[in-house]
Amino acid sequence: MGSRKVTSSAPVDWQGKHVTVAGLGVSGLPAAKALHARGANVTVVNDGDDARAREQAAELEALGITVRLGDGATLPEGTGLVVTAPGWKPDKPLFTAAREAGVEIWGDVELAWRLRGPDAAPWLAITGTNGKTTTTQMLASILKAAGLRTAAVGNIGVSVLDAVLGDEQYDVLAVELSSYQLHWAPSLRAHSAAVLNLAPDHLDWHGSMEAYAADKGRVYEGNRVACVYNVADKATEDLVREADVEEGCRAVGFTLGTPGPSQLGVVEGILVDRAFVENRQKNAQELAEVSDVRPSAPHNIANALAAAALARAFGVPASAVRDGLRNFTPDAHRIAHVADVAEVAYVDDSKATNTHAAQASLAAYESIVWIAGGLAKGATFDELVAKSAKRLRGVVLIGQDRALIREALARHAPEVPVVDLDRTDTGAMLAAVREATRLAVSGDTVLLAPACASMDMFANYNKRGDAFAEAVRELGS
Ligand code: ADP
Repeated sequence: MGSRKVTSSAPVDWQGKHVTVAGLGVSGLPAAKALHARGANVTVVNDGDDARAREQAAELEALGITVRLGDGATLPEGTGLVVTAPGWKPDKPLFTAAREAGVEIWGDVELAWRLRGPDAAPWLAITGTNGKTTTTQMLASILKAAGLRTAAVGNIGVSVLDAVLGDEQYDVLAVELSSYQLHWAPSLRAHSAAVLNLAPDHLDWHGSMEAYAADKGRVYEGNRVACVYNVADKATEDLVREADVEEGCRAVGFTLGTPGPSQLGVVEGILVDRAFVENRQKNAQELAEVSDVRPSAPHNIANALAAAALARAFGVPASAVRDGLRNFTPDAHRIAHVADVAEVAYVDDSKATNTHAAQASLAAYESIVWIAGGLAKGATFDELVAKSAKRLRGVVLIGQDRALIREALARHAPEVPVVDLDRTDTGAMLAAVREATRLAVSGDTVLLAPACASMDMFANYNKRGDAFAEAVRELGS
């Protein structure tokens, strides 16, 4: 870690500044309104020209904001700044034109960061390939238990922009950040930040694994108190090493094993802190029990440790970590126990939409009938199958790209029975659950952890998980 002295970015004089907002929608609308209210001369450009876009455009035009529908490629004349929706790919012609003209490009997070008031709440930031939402919510729960005014914001429910522009007063914010948001947030400086893990994802957007990692690593830039990394995932530690941070900022690891000095970890079923204690060579502080973490699957204990590390970096007492973890309820479709039927547990982890998430999920159970498949998004399944083979009682495959998983199973787990449903209709889930039930024996877990996106069969992963739960209920009735 290098240290830095200069952190603040100069305030912007918005009066008459020509700002192009790229993309209507979740962040575009509030961004355009906020900039217009500050006196900027705002033009919104949007690729689409559908009924919803027209409705939003009318709302903005009524305020005096210019909107160009059906043309998100051309940079309006005189643009002095581009504020983009985070999902817009960096290779778009609009951005090329902006870069050639020397015009800065900010995402919604950068804008929120720049619009914060001078006494605004510090940010505790979380990124990673998987576990972001859960960890951010755990962190907010811990901060609340410590009596702090806080909210889980960012890539969840409330956007960072809404949190920053709203009337609510906060002491500290728990901020989930995606790799896209970080890409477009050059001057963000968190109080402390965590990268939970790093596995290939969204590579078509970032262009390469290196570029993806570099964008994730931005979360550590300028941290003041702690850069929290995953001891089991060396790539996260490497990012800390490369980061330019404030003088005195510490690297703090979390591990499922016994923690060394400057780490949080687990000792005999207890979550312990050896980082934020006096004399960390000798002392450790007990934070909570593993059973306080729900579900207490290994990857989720790692999430709890990361949340605890950030909370402790902010000075939260150990008792608040325990209370916050106890009060926390995970969102739906994340290792949700649906029912036990005939001594078989049915678990919905529909949110496991990539192989890294599915691998964590599969590692949480001893003997599994695995329901998998959907849209692979360019992923390969060899590592996932090879690592999980010994836990598999059987596999039921659904969805468009199921052949990729079937072939990986043939290579690495040829003895495991596989039912290939050869279906992509919504009703296939009921058939999948029936087949899984047939394969399962007493004590097994039927686990929906598709390792794929859901859009070939369902509107989203929520609907896929609902279909699974519905099918399990039919089974029990
Ligand atoms: P994100 O916001 O990063 O998508 P979530 O908290 O919504 O993360 O969890 C998404 C899925 O990722 C979960 O359903 C689970 O399968 C998996 N997961 C959660 N935490 C981890 C972790 N620390 N490591 C690996 N996989 C995880």
